Amino acid sequence: MAIDYTFTPEIEAVRHRVRELVETEIKPAEDELRQAATGDGRADRRALVTMIATLRGRARDAGLWLPHMPVEWGGMGLGPTAMAAVSAEAAKSSFGPFVMNCQAPDEGNQHTLLHWATDEQKEKYLRPLCEGRIRSCFAMTEPEVAGSDPTLIQTRAVLEGDEWVINGHKWFISGARRAGFAILIARTEDNPEIPQAANSAFLVDLPSDGWEIVRDVETMSGSHNHCEILITDLRLPASNIIGGRGQGHLLGQARLGPARLAHCMRWIAQCETALDMMVDRALSRYAHGSLLADKQGIQWMIADSTMELYQAKLMVLHAAYRIESGLSFKAEVSMAKHFVANSLWRIVDRAIQVHGALGYSTDTPLAEMLKQARWSRFADGADEVHQWTIARSALAAYKEDGSTRRATGDLPL
Ligand SMILES: Cc1cc2nc3c(=O)[nH]c(=O)nc-3n(C[C@H](O)[C@H](O)[C@H](O)COP(=O)(O)OP(=O)(O)OC[C@H]3O[C@@H](n4cnc5c(N)ncnc54)[C@H](O)[C@@H]3O)c2cc1C
Repeated sequence: MAIDYTFTPEIEAVRHRVRELVETEIKPAEDELRQAATGDGRADRRALVTMIATLRGRARDAGLWLPHMPVEWGGMGLGPTAMAAVSAEAAKSSFGPFVMNCQAPDEGNQHTLLHWATDEQKEKYLRPLCEGRIRSCFAMTEPEVAGSDPTLIQTRAVLEGDEWVINGHKWFISGARRAGFAILIARTEDNPEIPQAANSAFLVDLPSDGWEIVRDVETMSGSHNHCEILITDLRLPASNIIGGRGQGHLLGQARLGPARLAHCMRWIAQCETALDMMVDRALSRYAHGSLLADKQGIQWMIADSTMELYQAKLMVLHAAYRIESGLSFKAEVSMAKHFVANSLWRIVDRAIQVHGALGYSTDTPLAEMLKQARWSRFADGADEVHQWTIARSALAAYKEDGSTRRATGDLPL
């Protein structure tokens, strides 16, 4: 039997060590970390940095640092399927991935630099990012044009002698405040052969003249360092381009496929937390002569959530397997991203329902989880854009093969 849903003993051991790190080190520090992270004083900032540094030290001591990066970059060299197991444990705390240095957007930027940067760029930007000495951001989305369609990007880079001069406007740039550098996507080509070849990617040292953080965009769940940036006559050496002129879209897409799946792996952890809480509450809350767990209406919510989480895990594992095996993965990642994002929303919502007023309060993490879950349905590819990809894949499969079989994961069924 070639199909095997188990990991090697080594990966299983890693999974259990991540669980232990989260349970014994990170979760007990969560309240203090959250207080420091939401405070705006210098003392809060210092306290946060100290606490994170301590936890990162523990992660390193436990050999749980940079799981997705090759050993020569200080990482654990895990492939996408093993990362699914690690992320689903690490993200049981929102600080978990950060403690292990595999959080968005740094994780995606690390992959981008590893595959596209020159050796000099790697030493200057990737090395300190991997060592946890700096953080980074990825600047693509603009308020004036649809982020879903990067061919519309208006931020413009013009080559003047041996310098790029860049002007534009970005927003929702996660982690921009306190980032050591940005990967910036800007238009460089006027008449590209295809619209997708108009943009290029640049490395911007931060802070920098011409890069102004206008504000931290306030969201429905508060401020989380998603910044609006004004770029005015920003000058970069010609060598600060990554991957060559007109490669920005390709590079963004190559980055986004695995990065989207990495989000799904973290959302699975959130789904499981919500389902555990739903069941725990149902087993202890008594109404109308029995526990909530004994009532069919509640059992349906538990059953639907359990089935959805099972499907989410299978889809993520299969898409990760396809990436790892060098097979096409675009439609599979789209299906996983759409399904997991929507399941996350539904499962957290049901958990709130079962908790009643307590679920709506901020006494449990569920209210914040629901607010965070909302962006998962349009960021890193809106639902409708993924459905478009999935439908195109089904239509193409049918036209070419006379069957949609290939579009449903190309499984041997
Ligand atoms: C928390 C958070 C963090 C983010 N971090 C970053 C970051 O670090 N860097 C960065 O560059 N960006 C970031 N973004 C931006 C994110 O990538 C964009 O929100 C996303 O690409 C969608 O772009 P948009 O918001 O402009 O929506 P639009 O492109 O305007 O889309 C709006 C809606 O239009 C519909 N739509 C769009 N296209 C189609 C279509 N083809 N068919 C049918 N319907 C369609 C969808 O319903 C979609 O939700 C972040 C966003 C959030 C919320």
